[in-house]
Amino acid sequence: MASTSTANDDPERESEESESALETARRQLRRAATLLDVDENIVERLAHPKAVHEVTVPVERDDGTVDVFTGYRAQHDSVRGPFKGGLRYHPDVTRDECVGLGMWMTWKCAVMDLPFGGAKGGVAVDPKSLSDAETERLTRRFAGELRDVIGPNTDIPAPDMGTTPQTMAWLMDAYSMQEGETTPGVVTGKPPVVGGSEGRDAAPGRSVALVTREAVEYYGDDLAGTTVAIQGFGSVGANAARLLDDWGADVVAVSDVNGGIYDSDGLDTHAIPTHDEEPEAVLGHDAPATVTNDELLELDVDVLVPAAVGNVLTAANAGDVSADLVVEGANGPTTSGASEVFAEREIPVVPDILANAGGVTVSYFEWLQDINRRKWSLERVHEELDAEMQSAWRRVREEFEARDVTWREAAYVVALSRVAEAHATRGLWP
Ligand code: GLU
Repeated sequence: MASTSTANDDPERESEESESALETARRQLRRAATLLDVDENIVERLAHPKAVHEVTVPVERDDGTVDVFTGYRAQHDSVRGPFKGGLRYHPDVTRDECVGLGMWMTWKCAVMDLPFGGAKGGVAVDPKSLSDAETERLTRRFAGELRDVIGPNTDIPAPDMGTTPQTMAWLMDAYSMQEGETTPGVVTGKPPVVGGSEGRDAAPGRSVALVTREAVEYYGDDLAGTTVAIQGFGSVGANAARLLDDWGADVVAVSDVNGGIYDSDGLDTHAIPTHDEEPEAVLGHDAPATVTNDELLELDVDVLVPAAVGNVLTAANAGDVSADLVVEGANGPTTSGASEVFAEREIPVVPDILANAGGVTVSYFEWLQDINRRKWSLERVHEELDAEMQSAWRRVREEFEARDVTWREAAYVVALSRVAEAHATRGLWP
């Protein structure tokens, strides 16, 4: 990301950028609790994870030396069903980040009304520093270390930043070999040939595109001709960009980690290689202009979709965002400070827990297919995903209209009321 020097020069920005996912998630929970009549003890319980598993993952490098990495699985809440959420391979993975992201998974599953709780995990490693063989060894060992705490009825991992369908296939294989039986339902986001669902890969981007269309229409505009800037061209950003482009929007800017390209007439998003097709190839695509990742966030467009990493919209740059609508493709792209600025400026922000929830929703479909040993067609996945997204959007919109709140608060009201009611109904054990 460009201009790290600004971050160092500006203490407010620096502290904002380092706001951990856990701090943001806790603030959002406490804010949502003020909007509902929820038992304080339940809120306090939900501010903490049920468990955080920290494991050591030694990996033999290709040259025969051994490096030791730290892995985590933070299980936040399972009152509504098994823990569910991704595993990321990224150098910034920490315990607190996993807890915060796990908490968001609880709300994401609840807002979609899926019978899952929330979890997140990962390994603090730069995946670019690993060969394919090293990634496989790391994954198999990590799976071995997590074996006792994951399972198709207890905790079901999925891909996240730095992990892929292939990573999930290795995880499933390692788990299955130890269990002595093929257990596809232990992870989702696998390649379809080993029990993955059609449409799972593209699902987070598809839901971002669906929700963007709903939100644009809600504010009285037509998607055709709407200008969109998208940060990130991976599974979320690229799939959202291509669908929005197909539906008539003008995707004028996209970026990857090295920066972005801009065309005021709209880019041909299908011609730009996605991260999966060719990593970090966005700048290699011919376009009238280039932009830095910071500049992309401030472009004068109708819709901004941050779909790369967390904490990119901060109190320091939220005042300079020119978009009329922000749709969160990444998890946690907006800090608490930025959320306040957007609320003051009356720029609607459709939150991650709704916008990118297509991923976990198709994970749920995949899990159903795995445990029923029955495959769904891509058409069925699209039909059911579209229906689930419509229904979640409508439910959140009802709260948005009934209360003087932001879209994030409305989504939290829906999610927290479901989770809190489940806790109140089950009661405390023992
Ligand atoms: N990692 C994805 C997310 O953040 C998907 C999680 C899942 O499918 O379990 O929503």
